[in-house]
Amino acid sequence: MLKKVLIANRGEIALRIIRACKDLGISTVAIHSTADTNSMHVRMADESICIGPPKAGDSYLSIPNIIAACEVTGADAVHPGYGFLSENPKFAQILSDHKITYIGPSAHHIKLMGDKITAKKTMEDLGVPCVPGSNGIINNLSEANNVAAKIGYPLIVKASAGGGGRGMKLVLNNSDLEGAFKSAKIEAEAAFGNDDVYIEKYLLEPKHIEIQIIGDGKGNAVHLAERDCSIQRRHQKILEEAPSTVLSSDERDEIGKICVNAISRLKYSGVGTIEFLYSNKEFYFIEMNTRIQVEHPITEQIFGFDLIKEQIKISSNNVLSIKQEDLNIKGHAIECRINAEKVPEFTASPGKINTYHAPGGLGIRIDSAIYAGYVVPPYYDSLICKIIIHGETRQEAIKRLERALSELIIDGISTTSEIFSLIIKNKKFLDGSYNISWLENLLDNQGK
Ligand code: ADP
Repeated sequence: MLKKVLIANRGEIALRIIRACKDLGISTVAIHSTADTNSMHVRMADESICIGPPKAGDSYLSIPNIIAACEVTGADAVHPGYGFLSENPKFAQILSDHKITYIGPSAHHIKLMGDKITAKKTMEDLGVPCVPGSNGIINNLSEANNVAAKIGYPLIVKASAGGGGRGMKLVLNNSDLEGAFKSAKIEAEAAFGNDDVYIEKYLLEPKHIEIQIIGDGKGNAVHLAERDCSIQRRHQKILEEAPSTVLSSDERDEIGKICVNAISRLKYSGVGTIEFLYSNKEFYFIEMNTRIQVEHPITEQIFGFDLIKEQIKISSNNVLSIKQEDLNIKGHAIECRINAEKVPEFTASPGKINTYHAPGGLGIRIDSAIYAGYVVPPYYDSLICKIIIHGETRQEAIKRLERALSELIIDGISTTSEIFSLIIKNKKFLDGSYNISWLENLLDNQGK
């Protein structure tokens, strides 16, 4: 078993990993920028080390600084969390070259899935259904026109290196294709240093449904059902629930088996998420995330299973601790992401939190790194708190969520908490029939 894990991250996910390590009896090292000296993850870890100035590029994204921190503290493993270096194959490789365990899949698998074109081709070859589109990179306008003629409009031009909801251009008709193709390439180069783009059919009002998988690297794998992440704003997830209200258990088993088969054949190691759009009862693969996701707690709640502990254990011994037949869904879970942002504009709202009261009681879990007196720095992601609800039924989970929202107090800065009251009152949310465009339309209609 690993002895000392360095957490190459900050905020709630750093805390989440520290807690899993403590449960396993593993020592922890927090790294932090000078802006995060007073952060909760620094206080909760057994040791901490400053790795640079506030700018992420000079601290949380600085591979040499993180390797040096491992050497100084004697950490034998690194957990990357999500974001930052969590899907950077170079980071995984350099750690392995330094004989430090990377808690995640191999650099090879991170690279394979990090390039969306290669990921799609790989998944297609493994029998996973994909969104119809180009057979790889689109090099020029005439290729784009050929694909468009084949799949029709609307279509979407996507950056192969894209992520975080960025690098996508919706094209409604042929007159917009040239402009979208050119600007997608320019933006992809600027944002990701890679201007490869591809084309996909733009699915109208699908759901975003993703499957949680775990592999042991030797060909054994399980799935932990789905999360419905269709409640989005600007392609960013806002609220997620598990299981989805629209899948039958046969559909769940079928897509689960397809994913398990793909992961086994790839000999994938660790946790991962296979993301699909779901429309007219069909699944269409869009991408795979080779890391733990923000919304992983809802899966943990319905299975009573610690995904981070499993990640750590697999990295040390390549053995899956569970079998598919032992994984049974119990109840329903919902997660709300609370961001330090001002609504209706959704502009960043960093600053000092004067009062903080976290909701509590049965079925309520809070994953957060804030406290009264904490100053939310302006340099990083604005997610400050996740409210995770579990209930015997979806109805009970929604009732508990309503209670949790009424108990939550974060004073001093603006947060997105108020939009959840709006969401959970709405008929489309209550009957589960929402899709990826629903929240955007709801906010537009509210004048928000
Ligand atoms: P990222 O890696 O940036 O998150 P994804 O490929 O996962 O990008 O897509 C993010 C979101 O964008 C999806 O959840 C969905 O809302 C929307 N999207 C992506 N591809 C399509 C498509 N082909 N048709 C309709 N919506 C899409």
